[in-house]
This record gives sequence, C-alpha cells and structure tokens, in this order.
Amino acid sequence: MTPPEHFAIGFALGNLAYSSFQLSKGIREDKYKKITYTKTIIIMTLSAMLPDIDSFFGHYTSNDPWVGHRGMTHSFIGISVLGLGLVFLMGMLSSLFRIITGYWRLLYKYFSKKEGIQIEFNFGKFIFYPFYYKTFLLYFLIAFIGGLSHLVCDLFQPPSVWGGLPLFFPLKVNGVYHRIGGFSTMGWYELKVFWITVGSVFISTAIILIVNFLKKLNFKLFKYLTITLFILVILFHLTTFVWSAKIILNGNYKDDFDWYKKQMSTIEKEMPTFVNNFTKKSVRIFSAIFKASQKS
Ligand SMILES: [Zn+2]
Repeated sequence: MTPPEHFAIGFALGNLAYSSFQLSKGIREDKYKKITYTKTIIIMTLSAMLPDIDSFFGHYTSNDPWVGHRGMTHSFIGISVLGLGLVFLMGMLSSLFRIITGYWRLLYKYFSKKEGIQIEFNFGKFIFYPFYYKTFLLYFLIAFIGGLSHLVCDLFQPPSVWGGLPLFFPLKVNGVYHRIGGFSTMGWYELKVFWITVGSVFISTAIILIVNFLKKLNFKLFKYLTITLFILVILFHLTTFVWSAKIILNGNYKDDFDWYKKQMSTIEKEMPTFVNNFTKKSVRIFSAIFKASQKS
C-alpha cells in the first residue's frame, strides 16, 4: 500500500484506539495514564507509515533485509524499534514544550502563594510526565498497533522481487532470511479501501471532536451520550475494517496492467465524479514522485 493509505488506516485505528481508551474507566481516572487525542493520532499515523522509510535508504529492489525495501523495518523487531524511537521522540518534544509552559506555571505558583492561594504543581513531575511508564507503555502499544497495521496490509500484496516480508527478522531458514506473505489478493494499492477509510475517518473524527467538546461542558446527562458516541465510533470502525478486509481478501492480482485497469474501472463506476477525478490526478502525481525517487 502507499503512504496515503497507511496514513488513512492509521488514522482510523487511532480513532478506534482513542475511543476504546476513553471508555475504559480506570484510564480516565488515573491522571498519569491519560492519553491525548492529538498524540494518539500522531503516533498511530506515523507508526503506520514508518516501515516504508526503507524505500529511501539502501537498494529498493534488493531482497537482502538489511538494505532492501520490505526489509528489517517490515518485521516485529523493526516496528518495535521504530515505535520505541517514535514514542521516545514524542516524549522529548513534549518535555521541551513543558519546560516553557511549566516555567510560567511555576512563576504563577510562586506569586500566588504569597497571596495565600495554594495551587498544586510539581515542576519535575510535570516535565517528566510524558515518560511516566504507564503513559509511555500505552503510547508504545499504540505505535506497535500502527506498525502492525502496515505489516498486515503489505502481506496481501504481490511478492514482487522481495518474496514477502521478513516478519521474524533476523530469523533464517536453511541459510536464507525467512519471509512470509506476497499473497497477491490485492495490487500495489486499493482505491476502494482507501476511500472507505477516508470517509469513515471524517465521520468518526467529527464525532470524537463533538464528544470532547461535550465533555468540557460537563453536564451530567452528557456522560451517557458521550459513552454512547464512543461505542458508536468503535462499532462503526470495526464494521468498515471488516468491509475493507473482505474487499482485500476477495481481490485477485494477475499482473500490473490487469490490476490497474480494475482499480480505474472501480472508481469510475462506483465513486462520485469529484472523487474519481481527484483520485486519478493523485495517482498520477504519486506515480511521478515514486518514479523520480527510484531514479535518484
Ligand atoms: Zn511497506
């Protein structure tokens, strides 16, 4: 799949994960286990795209997992290392930001104390908060799920020169790196799945933003409404994932020409005109970028 597709799937999974976490009461009540919507989406979408960074280094067409595309970044170890790095980097950035905002809160605490008002604020804890182990582990879990979504999607594509993914890297069988996948039930991208996912993300994001707004208003009656809406988001995404999985599993890849013809006829027959035009233009632009990146 292409980066826009991995991004869309990551976004959908982010909305699903966030809604599930919000429904879990324990997480909502413990302030050190609180995960934010923005960070969930950033970590999930980035980790869903990250394995493909191996397209920019080494030799794209090599089947050596150390240097080729679909190499070690497309393995359980690969997504764990990438996920850990990503979450650590996010934590660092958060802490840097907190040093500035925390400084002002510290000043406020200092001056308000003089007037006899006590506010609870721990500067050190506040700065290291993103690295609190429960928060860190939850974000790592999110990054791992994002990476996993990338591997699952790639498994169903053609084997091409790589012969699948080295999921259990650095495992070797009979002296060669073990590879799995290349099932060929889909081609290099799947436009119908992409648009189903994009559409569902628009709807679920709107619902989540409304829910988060309602929560700020803090009316008691809204509590049940927000719970209902979160459940709705979860069920909605589970349905669209099953729908997408059915499309991918029932597909069939013979060769590039046949697959491309099928993709184009699907968007022509089943999609509105503006989606059809937009898709064709985007496909052209992305193919040009891809070809240019392969030449250099
Ligand atoms: Zn990939």
